[in-house]
Formats: sequence, structure tokens, C-alpha cells
Amino acid sequence: MAPTPFFSDRGCHVRIYEQARVLTQMGQQVFICTYHLGKDVPGLDIYRSRNVPWYKKITAGPSLGKIYLDLLLARKSWQVIKNQKPELLHAFLHEGGLLGPWLKRWAKVPLVLDLQGSLTDEIKAHKFLGQNRLALKIFQLLENWAVRGADAVLTSSRVISDLLAKTELPPEKIFIISDGVDTNIFRPAADKAAVRKKLGLPLDKKIIVYLGLLTDYQGVDILLRAAAKLCQAEPSLFFLIMGYPDVDKYQKMALDLGLSSNVRFTGRVDYFKESPEYLAAGDLAVSAKISLSEANGKLLNYMAAGLPPVVFNTPVNREILGDDGTYAELGNERDFTDKIKQLLDNDEARRQLGQKLRRRAEEHFSLEAIGGKIMAVYQQVLSKKMSSKKITPFWRIFYSYRRRHLTPPYFPSRLWIEPTNHCNLACPVCLNKQLPVEQKGFMEMSTYRRIIDEAGGRARDIYLHHRGESLLHPELGEMIAYAKAKGLAVRLHTNATLLDEAHARILLDSGLDFISFSFDGYDRQTYEKIKAGAKYDQVLANIFNFLKMKKQLGREKPFTNLTVIEFETGGADARTKKINQKEFLTKFQEWTPDSIRTRRPHNWGGALESTGRPKVRTNGFMSCTFLWYSLTVLWEGTVLPCPQDFFGRLSLGNVNQTSLTELWNGPLAKILRQSMSGRPSELLEPCRHCDRLFRRQILGVPVEEIKNYLRDNIFGYKSPKRK
Ligand code: SF4
Repeated sequence: MAPTPFFSDRGCHVRIYEQARVLTQMGQQVFICTYHLGKDVPGLDIYRSRNVPWYKKITAGPSLGKIYLDLLLARKSWQVIKNQKPELLHAFLHEGGLLGPWLKRWAKVPLVLDLQGSLTDEIKAHKFLGQNRLALKIFQLLENWAVRGADAVLTSSRVISDLLAKTELPPEKIFIISDGVDTNIFRPAADKAAVRKKLGLPLDKKIIVYLGLLTDYQGVDILLRAAAKLCQAEPSLFFLIMGYPDVDKYQKMALDLGLSSNVRFTGRVDYFKESPEYLAAGDLAVSAKISLSEANGKLLNYMAAGLPPVVFNTPVNREILGDDGTYAELGNERDFTDKIKQLLDNDEARRQLGQKLRRRAEEHFSLEAIGGKIMAVYQQVLSKKMSSKKITPFWRIFYSYRRRHLTPPYFPSRLWIEPTNHCNLACPVCLNKQLPVEQKGFMEMSTYRRIIDEAGGRARDIYLHHRGESLLHPELGEMIAYAKAKGLAVRLHTNATLLDEAHARILLDSGLDFISFSFDGYDRQTYEKIKAGAKYDQVLANIFNFLKMKKQLGREKPFTNLTVIEFETGGADARTKKINQKEFLTKFQEWTPDSIRTRRPHNWGGALESTGRPKVRTNGFMSCTFLWYSLTVLWEGTVLPCPQDFFGRLSLGNVNQTSLTELWNGPLAKILRQSMSGRPSELLEPCRHCDRLFRRQILGVPVEEIKNYLRDNIFGYKSPKRK
């Protein structure tokens, strides 16, 4: 939100423009809300408030008419927020500071303010309200309220940051993001003579340039008086003065000082098209701005153009130019004049300083450098919002999914964590056999604790299972207990082949919330064909024994579930299958699990070409829900967006190096979510061949998952009371 007639070729507008441009280049979507006045800039998405024909002022400074414009701007911003659903609000200037907190509350997104000074200090400095103490007090209270409502405040210099620290703004919320400059557009001329010729500037004179507003506040009168003295001693000097608004006033002053043949006033120059060329024609630059706190962005353009500037010795100027600036004593016109003369007299020193400053601009003030810093602040405020110890309600996730938010502002509600990818079976329909032995292992407890410490209080539950048999992990009981201590619900899926009494006891004592027994086949022949290596009777006995122990120990948890995936084995026909199923269910009359579910196999993101699976009924392409509610972590820490990507082709990063919070909204996660909004042909691999996207669904949830979805998120799991 830019409460100003953007774009108008001046300091704060350049800052807004440079930031918007680099963020757009970095793949962010930026919408600029601004006044009805100003130039449109190609490549930026600009929304203007309603036209107010009587308001034409585009220069800086306070005015009462702006109150009306700000209200219209708030209305426009509100409309844009409603339609575009941004993830973050970035408001500029003091008016942005006052409007931003209201919009933040309404939009429920973090607010970043970009302030270049204290509002109350500026009102005092400009004597806008005279010395009305009550009015100043009201503004001070308003300012305190505004900065307290921001999640971060950006300023362009340390001086301004120190000033803001005197308000009620906590120091950890203040970030110094200096102005940036496009070092590709602003650069030294390869052929200075050709540029001068093109612009009609003298070829044989030393040219001193000034680019900026023409006001006393910028020290233009000081500059002209210095020019007069210099030109008296050296009539061949030439001053090129670019800017507005008070051109007539300063032209007259130049005439009075006898500078008619030594000065050219260009008036307003186009920031993008003209100012880079004019600067490239110069030998030296100047800025006589005296303010101790206000930004001085023109110095960056000078530096990028390889022009060494002469300035007053102020903290703001020192912060920009460092040790390579040429500083005159603050407010001392004679010293200012002398410093210009010294630099003009020493061509080699000027050339070397110009080169050093150009390098400094590239290193510290290039758009790329600035963009990286802004993104880091954005990430911080967004992740702070995500790191609130709150489990996201399901409707919030659902809303984000329906709106296809690219960076959902919450922590995933479910994690699949793989204790191991070793398995004691060798099922023909499972891809585990294809994993090379060197890619197999057991999760270290340090990795596991790192995950749980981050997820505790933020995720709803974890599923301790992915590509292997979790009971093989020697510390499984500890893992469950650790997650429980951090407030997470824990779920487990097992083939139950190793579920002897000792394991059953560990699980029943661990606080486990949900256990699912994988039992794929109703009769012995089918089961042992699918679960190669498992013994039908033995596994059934393990399950019964677990259910019996649970009852004997009087445990309410875990909720027990038997899952049968109905693979087509080419054996039994439909009728025989029905009979087998009926017979199978009679076995559970004495020891009954809390639920029995039959499921269809999925194709592991297309990795399993032929499962002999039943045909998946489709009603069109839907976006993958996993991307909006879960992450999967492999045993060595690789983080995936979903548990269907068996071979880890969609690695988002590693939790041992990067937090889950960062990976959740990292670059690949965003690309994946974006791809779900396009056509199937735009999907990445393995999503492109994943059958999950073509299942029957209601409001985005696969029909067969709806019951589980509601149980997980609304009703919870409770074992029915049995005698
Ligand atoms: S569509 Fe992609 S992200 Fe979703 S489950 Fe399939 S492979 Fe995973």
C-alpha cells in the first residue's frame, strides 16, 4: 500500500518501485494500491483509488486533502485484499502506518511497515500543526498504536531505526533495509562523450550533477551558492541540475548568482529513461541535504553511475557511502565548496573513488541484495505467525486449500514420519524391494526429536509409518512417548508380524492413539500371496493378542483399526471374495477391532505401473490435498510434500538443515501448489501420474477419505465401550 501518487520520479517512489520490482523478479506476486494520480509502470500490477479530479498535487509533504485520499485508498486496498487474498501486507509511509493495522486485522495477515522517520517528529519539524500540544499528543498515541500493530518495520538507515526505537516499537521488530538501485540501468557510460553529445551537453567541461527534489530542504540553495563560487574561480565548470518542483525559483536564483551559462535545469526527468543517461554524463555528483535523519536515496544512483559524490557529514550519508564518501562539515558551505574543488582538481582520485563506490553499490545496494533481505523479513514474520503454538483448525486448512494459497500461513497439521524403511516382508505389490540397500536405514533419535520439538503444539498428529515396518525400530516406544509428551496424537500402521507380547506391551504403555493393522487378504491363500513372508494364522493371533491385552489392561487407547487393501490377485471371483470376506469377519467376533476398513490400492505417485488395482473412478482433476495439510519426513531427514512419492523425487530439503516451517512454504512447495491450479499437463512428476488426483471427491476430499477426515479433524477417535 503506497499512500502517495505513485509513480512520480522521487525518493520514496523509487524505493517502492525497486522493492516491488525485485520481489516480482523473485517470483512473488505484488499488488500496489496507490492514489489516483501517478504514472503507471510497466510490469507492476497497480490498483488506483477513485479519481478525485480536484486533487492534483504530486509533490511530497503533508496536506489536509490527503486525509480524503487516504480513506479512498483504504477502500481500494480493502477491495484488493478481498479479491487477491494476499499473504502479507506491506504498507509504506506514515499513512500506511495508520491504515495498515486496520487492514491487517481485517485481512488476518502479517503487516510490514516501511517507515522513514517518526510521524510526530516530522509534524514538529514541518510545523504542520504549529505547537498544538494536544494534537501532537494525539499523533504520538496514534503512531505508537500503529507501530505496535506491525509485525515488522523496515527503515532505510540506522539513524531512522534509532529514531523509531524511541517509540513503543520493540527493537527486534525493526529491520534496516537500505534503498536499492538497479545497477544494470544506472552504470558508468562506456562512451561519455557520445552520451554528452546526445544530450547536448558540453564536451570539454567538467560536469557536476544533482538529481533530486528542488527544495530548500534538499540544500539546493547551498548548492547554487557553492556553484557560483566555484564558477568564479573556474568558469568552464558546468552544473546539471535535474528535478522538480521549484525549478523557476532556483533558475532565478542561478541567474542572480551569475550562473546563466554554467547551469542547466532539466526540470523533471524520467527516472527510468532519462536519469541514467544524464548521470552517466557527469564527472562528479553533489547533495547538500542537511537532514540528520531522512534517507538520501539519490546517493545510490550516483554510486551505481560511478560518480563520487560530495555530501555533508551526516550519519545517513556515512551509512550509504562508507569510507569512500567525500564529506564536508555539516552545514559548512565553504567546506562543501572546497571539497567539490578538491575532487574536481584530482582526476585520478575521482576515478578511483567512482570505481570503489560502483563496487559498493553492486555488493550492498543492488536489487538482488535488497530483495534477499526483504524476503528474509517476510519469511520471518510469516513463520512467526506459523510458529504460534496453535493447531490449525480444519476449516482454516480447508479454506486455504479451496483458495489454493501458495504459502498457507500455518504449520501442517499432520506429519508422516518414517522410523525406518527396512521391512521384514517382500510383498510383490510393494516398491520397497526396489530401494537400494544403501538407501535404507533407521531414523536417529536426534533427527526425530528435532521434528517433534518443532511440531509439538502445532501439528495435530503424526503417523509413524511410511515405507518400512516401524516395529523394526528399536526405539519406537520412546518415539511415541516423546511425541505424546509434546502434545501430539500418534498413529501407527504395522503389518503386525512382529507384534509379539513385548511389542504389544510397549505400544499399550506408550500412549499411542491409533493403531492400524495391515491385513491385505480375506483368506489364507490371498493374504500369504500378497504379504509374502507373513503367516496368516500367526499375524491374526498377534492382532487378537493385542486386542486382548488392551482389554485386560483396561486401556482406552489406542483406537484399533484393521485395514484391508483389496488388491486384485487374479484369483477369487467377486462372489468367492464376498464369501471369504464374510467368513473372515466372523473371526473377529471375540476380539473385535474398533473399526475395519477396506481400501483401494494407490499407485505411489505413478511409480507402481501395474497393481492389478481396481479402476479408479474419476470425476475430473482435483488439487492434491496433501500439499495443504501435511509433510512427510524420511528416515534420514528428507522432507517430502506427500507420502505417495515413494522414491523421494519431490524433496523439499532436509530437516537436519532446514526447519519444517521453512520447507513447508519453500520454493518447491510453492511451485507444486501453483501447479495444482493449472491443467493436468502442467503438473510435475510424479504428480502427473498420481492416481490420487483423479479420485471421486467432495469439496476436494476423496470420497473414501471423508469419514477418516472427519474423524481425524472433528470427532476424534474413541473406542466403543465393549463388555
Ligand atoms: S499428487 Fe503429487 S503431491 Fe499429491 S499425492 Fe500425488 S505425488 Fe504426492
